[in-house]
Amino acid sequence: MSNWHVNLLTLFPEMFPGTLGMSLSGKALDKDIWSYNSINIRDFSSGVHKSVDDTPFGGGAGMVMRADIIESALLSIPNQGRKIYMSPRGKTLNQNMAQELANEKVLTILCGRYEGVDQRVLDAHNFEEVSIGDYVLSGGEPAAIILMDSCIRLLSGVMGNNTTPDEESFSNDLLEYPHYTKPAKWVDSNGVERIVPQILTSGHHKNIEKWRLEQSEDITKRNRPDLWHKYIAEKP
Ligand code: SAM
Repeated sequence: MSNWHVNLLTLFPEMFPGTLGMSLSGKALDKDIWSYNSINIRDFSSGVHKSVDDTPFGGGAGMVMRADIIESALLSIPNQGRKIYMSPRGKTLNQNMAQELANEKVLTILCGRYEGVDQRVLDAHNFEEVSIGDYVLSGGEPAAIILMDSCIRLLSGVMGNNTTPDEESFSNDLLEYPHYTKPAKWVDSNGVERIVPQILTSGHHKNIEKWRLEQSEDITKRNRPDLWHKYIAEKP
């Protein structure tokens, strides 16, 4: 097993690795920097129709995934590590949480479908609920892929020396400054000449650093007042 392993409890095992099998995360998977195991919850249903859900007690729309079937699937995993249920009502994923989860060795992620899962299995096995944002998806699998992507790029050996996570958005509560590359002078399709900010071609590293920080502060102030207030409060 790799240094970072994820057990996925899902009704759609074929959704994994999905996009995680490509690009940086795909190469890291090939190199066994991380690994995963998809467990099909439906394999643990004993009914003739292999159904995994039932109607909610108390009435209401939709179906609920059964606690007993999810538990059987969970107990088939020898090393469960930290248990997470992808859920819109969970704590929202952020860069600190991604770093914390990347520091774990093993995660087990439960992907819900329908109206969600019977609360009792979450309580019985101390699942932490994690949301990827304030919107509702049709299933937990895309949410799990996003969570895993945010962790995988932080694993040692995934990004190489070219990217420094401590300069990226959300480090120090700031969003990242704008990037530019060649050509230095570019005429867009409306005939407007767009020149790279002169400071970036000056070779003056101290001034470039200062300019980038100012840009980061400006973008954060405009786009994320919540982060900006945190940054100001914590700035020495
Ligand atoms: N009835 C639930 C509610 O209103 O909170 C939504 C259920 S949703 C249709 C089905 C599954 O998708 C959930 O059990 C969860 O696993 C996943 N899901 C949906 N939105 C999510 C989000 N924002 N973050 C993480 N998982 C999400």
